[in-house]
Amino acid sequence: MQNSKYITVLVPGGLLDLGKVEAISLVAGKYDLTCYLTSAQNLRLLGASDDNLEEIKGALAGLGLIVKEPGRFPKPRICFGMPYCNLGLVDTFALSDRIWSRFGGRTGVKPKLKIALSGCPASCAGSMLVDIGIIATRNGFDMYAGGKGGALPKIGKLIARGLTEEEAVDLVGELVDYHASKTGKKQRMAKLIDEPDFPKRITS
Ligand code: SF4
Repeated sequence: MQNSKYITVLVPGGLLDLGKVEAISLVAGKYDLTCYLTSAQNLRLLGASDDNLEEIKGALAGLGLIVKEPGRFPKPRICFGMPYCNLGLVDTFALSDRIWSRFGGRTGVKPKLKIALSGCPASCAGSMLVDIGIIATRNGFDMYAGGKGGALPKIGKLIARGLTEEEAVDLVGELVDYHASKTGKKQRMAKLIDEPDFPKRITS
């Protein structure tokens, strides 16, 4: 299909300000693209072609948007947490910002890594079904690793309990580094979770 190409724009925290929405709308209108919201809380523009793909990417980058490219850090999918959800224990937008500020500029991240952040144990962001899952509890942050969806889903294993926010962010970095060091082209964390040197804080 000639117009079967697409571009994914990373949307940290799942938040797009109105100015960006208007600007994206103009780009989408100009190139006759359709906006699709992905399960990872990103924005995918459908209907590009080989002839205009790079031009559209350039236009989006010119708007200050981050186009998904190989090696980019996978910004976390988050629930909307405190203060919007009655059960929220933390401000998930603020923590997502903190994670993005620290790791968003990273390159060399291997494909197939997904991260999710939930503001309470209800885990609405699906933190147990991704490679690195963070869940706020009344006793700090619990972290899971090795979860995945797909045809053969797996529930992640608890690898740390009761972390401070800083410890949780540090562990995200450690896990991403570990995944990169042990992965050739691409790999889910589930394949690594039982390695003896896997960076767990506890054994579960
Ligand atoms: S995980 Fe908890 S805080 Fe987040 S949306 Fe669900 S119930 Fe609310």
